[in-house]
Amino acid sequence: MSKLADNLARVEEAIARACRAASRPRAEVELMAISKTHPSEALVEAERLGLHLFGESRVQEFAVKSAQLAVSAAPGETATVRSQIRVHMIGNLQSNKANKAVEVFDGVDTLDSVKLAVRLDAAVAANVLWGGKKLPVLVEIKLSSEESKAGLAPDSAELSALLERLPDLKHLDAQGLMTIAPLDVPEEETRGCFRRLRELRDELAQQHARLHLPMLSMGMSGDFALAIAEGATRIRIGTALFGAREYPA
Ligand SMILES: *Cc1c(COP(=O)(O)O)cnc(C)c1O
Repeated sequence: MSKLADNLARVEEAIARACRAASRPRAEVELMAISKTHPSEALVEAERLGLHLFGESRVQEFAVKSAQLAVSAAPGETATVRSQIRVHMIGNLQSNKANKAVEVFDGVDTLDSVKLAVRLDAAVAANVLWGGKKLPVLVEIKLSSEESKAGLAPDSAELSALLERLPDLKHLDAQGLMTIAPLDVPEEETRGCFRRLRELRDELAQQHARLHLPMLSMGMSGDFALAIAEGATRIRIGTALFGAREYPA
């Protein structure tokens, strides 16, 4: 078995265990493979192992890989790997990159301002490749006080403004919330963070009746079992699948 196949089997086992412990069906939890910094060959191999949802954190990095995947097909097949997978933006997205983002991504899971939402909506409207389909988006929420964390604070005016505006942006499909838990904190704090995201979603769904927010993207390699226990419907796994990331010096 390849290293990736081995890692995937281990991750699947841990997901199944966490689902059983939470009395949740496995089918309720989507596995998103986080392939940032890894070459397009890693996505090709992952697709062959049955993974179809990926997350990438940089527009330019994925634009290069997307072009490579658009010409690579399995032996004897005509469908390209790119056409068999969905890839979402999970990194900080500047609104001036909205056009490029909707050219290469199938979704944006880090929506964090009205300005970006308006730009993405216009970019999808203007892009014939989308052909009337809506761009799936998640609103990124900041639940820890670390200054570096991206996302909107739960009680911020900007979050209310964004949720008020989203139903009117006809080319966006707001599906739920996303958060990154603080790293290296006690397990109870991590779990509390995931619980707050679920409770916030329930509150927001009540306050904004025109929105339906079923998706909770939370949990990474180190904490996805806790996230599943608290209701995650999408977990984002990088290191546990692809190994440690190497960043250029
Ligand atoms: C890199 C990244 C992940 C994956 O983290 P691992 O710990 O490697 O699983 C998940 N979510 C986001 C937003 C990321 O940037």
